[in-house]
Amino acid sequence: MHEIVARFSQEQVDELNSRITTAEEALEWASDNLHPRVAKASSFGAEDAVIMDLMVKINPDFRFFTLDTGRLPQETCDIMDIVRKKYNISIEVLFPDAKEVEEMVNAKGMNLFYDSVENRKLCCEIRKVHPMNRMLDTLDGWITGLRRKQTKLRQDVTVFQLDHSHGGILKINPIIDWSWDQIQDYIKKNSLPYNRLLDKGYSSIGCEPCTRPIKLGEDLRAGRWWWEQGEHKECGLHIERKRTD
Ligand code: SF4
Repeated sequence: MHEIVARFSQEQVDELNSRITTAEEALEWASDNLHPRVAKASSFGAEDAVIMDLMVKINPDFRFFTLDTGRLPQETCDIMDIVRKKYNISIEVLFPDAKEVEEMVNAKGMNLFYDSVENRKLCCEIRKVHPMNRMLDTLDGWITGLRRKQTKLRQDVTVFQLDHSHGGILKINPIIDWSWDQIQDYIKKNSLPYNRLLDKGYSSIGCEPCTRPIKLGEDLRAGRWWWEQGEHKECGLHIERKRTD
């Protein structure tokens, strides 16, 4: 049975959003009020490099976790170890349920995601969403690297949000208002290690078979599931809906 987690009211969330505006303030609040039942979900993209650096400066004991989908690029595995050693931190690596992956691959093939949106969502569900749900069940809040400018689906996101899909825990998006230029400036100014795929044109980094570099002028997330059309291009981690696990 899961531990009972703290619940937050919309009034509390509104109050936090009205007085906390900077990334540092949001992270300080999380450290003072939620640690150690709060953690940063990291996929080791540019935004994650910035937030992890801010977090370690505020609280070296902040918790970090990542999802090893089994299909990550080598560059992401490399940066994971570089970051772990640089900050001397633990990174909790979550794996999908082996049986679920086995059944999916045996029924639909290794590269099922190219066959249909339904298959792609199933793969994301099993390799990302289910392990993430298991982690979030143990937390009072989680920290993301979402930015409003990344996609139309993120236009209404605020720094603090109630995460209704995960029992009303807090979802904290400290850099929601940051621009891509701000992210790049912070990385350069602080000489942060970053995922080498960024230098190859990958503005958003995900699984190897589902991510490619973007061309000049393309949307920053155009390289994710590039063969799909429309605005539904999210893996499910940031969409409010009923759980299936
Ligand atoms: S991004 Fe691609 S490989 Fe990764 S979980 Fe989703 S569909 Fe599967």
